[in-house]
Order: sequence, then structure tokens, then C-alpha cells
Amino acid sequence: MLKSCGQKLLLSLVGSMLTCFLVLMVDQQKGQPGLRFGSDGAGLLLQSFEGPGRVAAPGSLLRTLSRGGSAAAGQRLPEVKSFTDYFSKLSRSKREAGMGGGGGSSSSLSSSGDRPEEGKRLRPPVEDLAPQDVFIAVKTTKKFHKARLELLLDTWISRNRGMTFIFTDGEDEELKKRTANVINTNCSAAHSRQALSCKMAVEYDKFIESGRKWFCHVDDDNYVNVQMLLKLLSSYPHTQDIYIGKPSLDRPIQATERISENKMHPVHFWFATGGAGFCISRGLALKMSPWASGGHFMSTAEKIRLPDDCTIGYIIESVLGVKLIRSNLFHSHLENLHQVAKSEIHNQVTLSYGMFENKRNSIHMKGAFSVEEDPSRFRSIHCLLHPDTPWCPLNVVY
Ligand code: UDP
Ligand code: MN
Repeated sequence: MLKSCGQKLLLSLVGSMLTCFLVLMVDQQKGQPGLRFGSDGAGLLLQSFEGPGRVAAPGSLLRTLSRGGSAAAGQRLPEVKSFTDYFSKLSRSKREAGMGGGGGSSSSLSSSGDRPEEGKRLRPPVEDLAPQDVFIAVKTTKKFHKARLELLLDTWISRNRGMTFIFTDGEDEELKKRTANVINTNCSAAHSRQALSCKMAVEYDKFIESGRKWFCHVDDDNYVNVQMLLKLLSSYPHTQDIYIGKPSLDRPIQATERISENKMHPVHFWFATGGAGFCISRGLALKMSPWASGGHFMSTAEKIRLPDDCTIGYIIESVLGVKLIRSNLFHSHLENLHQVAKSEIHNQVTLSYGMFENKRNSIHMKGAFSVEEDPSRFRSIHCLLHPDTPWCPLNVVY
């Protein structure tokens, strides 16, 4: 009796060892890093994501998606093949070898620990970038066409019409006469989370459609110094995972992702504030597609119930495990713009104006126009950068 028990035990031990061995062998053979999509069309399956920058909290989201909790569930994803191809081309080790931590500045560790950060000096260019390689999406709303957009059309957009795409929510024949790329998103003209996400979703889809190398988003109260933007972007390869901008918080945002009707999961991640502008490489944008393309952006935003710029950060940092590169060259009116040194104005990528701590906030500079004539300071900034503009006065003291 005892002997037969021992034999059975030995046999089952050998059996389970053999099974383990077989499983390991199979796993080794198909151990391609990255996202895999279920062949049964039932949703997504994360197989492995190797390397030090492991996916922070993808499992729960993927579970949600494959359980039917979102628009992505049960749907065949049209770009599945290209994603798998893309992943097999770019291993994380390749990406990291190329980026060296992403920022190029070893002295730039901040409160955020080992966050990649763009240094004071730009890295040397790795790619020649032409203006038509960059897609700048400007988010606006009909009521700001006159109040805000006109200023941008007179200043930075006037020199960069080919790369600028205006995303709005109402028809405006006057506006269309002034500039070519006006896109009516048909999203609601509200400042609600849903309306803003709706616009971001259209921005994303139009960028993918454009085939350009870089996607940049700005608000209609941003001045873009396109020359510096091109310089900054050309120091990163567009095929790799680049998300660059400036956070408005000094710590990661805490959120909860909805897993099912009554199950939530805490997540935390960094995001670049939309009001300062941010850019995403095409390589990374393509990977975002299952969560950002078509209707997916709206359902992802619903899952964490946060605004559009946070949703972008969630997809990139929390789902895809790619870190935001912080850059001090982007500016929103959530920071004190008086602190931008006069001597550094021409080196900034974006500037802004608005309110800060209940006070009017704008770049502090003497310039071509008085504060009364030019409260945003954008006209003066434009004349500083492009003194040959016909309406800029001659011989200005800055
Ligand atoms: N915006 C919009 N719909 C609105 C209000 C604002 O699309 O109903 C856009 C606006 O054009 C801008 C961005 O949202 O590009 C941020 O708006 P705003 O600067 O007024 O607010 P902030 O969030 O910066 O305080
Ligand atoms: Mn604003």
C-alpha cells in the first residue's frame, strides 16, 4: 500500500516537472517583449514587457479591456498587426540605449527622483527635422476665435501655417479664410472633461492620419517658438518613445481606474500639463492607439475620470510604462511667468499668459508694445524673435 503510494507520488512529481520544463521551453520561444493581442478577438493580453521601466499598472486596465468593460473590449483592433510588428522592431533595450535615460542631464534630478529631464542645454540633433514633420494641434473653442486665436494667427501661426492645425467646435468662415487647417471637431463647446477629451481624440486621429513625425498639442493661450520646438524635437528620434512637456504638479497624480462596475484600482503617474503644451513622437503615438484612437480615447478618459492631458499621461506612463521627459522650456499660466528671465525668452519652446494666483500673469519684458497695447506680451515676444515682421516697430529697446 505504502509502496504504491510512493510510486504514485514519484510519478506525479516527474509529471509536473516535465510540464514545467515544457512550459518554460514554449515561453522562451515566444518570449517577444511587448503587447500581444488575443487571436480570438476577445480583447487584449499583456504577455511581457521586459526591462527596468516595467509597466506600472497595466494589468488591471488590460483586464478591464478584456472583460468587456470598455469600448475596446470584444472589438477587433485594426492596427493590431502593425503594433506587433512595431514591437518586434523596437525592444526596450534598444530604446533605452538610444535615450540614455531620456533627458541628457545628469545633474537634473529633482523631487521626482530619477525622472528623465531635458537639461539646460539641448542635446545634439539626431535627426533633421523639417517644419512639415511636426503637427501642432491648437485647441480652441468658437468663443475664443476672436478673443484668443486672432493673436496667434497674427503672431506665431502666421509664419507656420503648414504645421498648425486648429481644432475647434464651431463653423467660422472668417477663420477658414485666414488659415488653411481648421478642423471642426463637432465636439460640444464646453469646458467639460468629456468635451475636452473629445477634441483631444480628434487631434490624435488627425495626427495619425497625417503621417507626420511629431505630435504637439497647445492651447489657444500659448505662443510657440517653432524654431526652438524643432531644435528640441530634432534631438530625439521620432521612432522611439518620447513624451515631453512640463508637469504642473510636483508629484505624480493619484487616480483610480475603473476595472468593473464596482471595482476601482489606484494608479499614479506623471502627466504634462496641456496648458504648457507637450509633444509625442510618432513611435509612441502608434503604441497608444488601442487606448487613444477612434472612440478609445473617450472611454479611456472615462475609466480614470480625468481631463484630456491627464488621460494622455495615464496611457503613456501607466499603461505603456514610458516616462514623461520633463522640460522647463514649456510654460503654462499655472506657473509664475514673471520668472522667465528676459535673456532666456528666445530659448523657450512655449509661453503663455493668463491668471496665476488671482493675478494677471504674463512674460515680464520691455518690448515693442506697452502692457496696455499688448497684455499677453505675445506681440512683443514675436517682434523680439522676428524683428523683420512688417508690423514690428524698428529700433526697439528690449
Ligand atoms: N476650451 C475649450 N472649450 C471651452 C473652454 C476652453 O475647448 O469651453 C479650450 C480653450 O480654448 C483652451 C483650453 O481649453 O485651449 C484651456 O482653456 P482655458 O485657457 O480657458 O482654461 P485653463 O484650463 O487654462 O484655465
Ligand atoms: Mn489657459
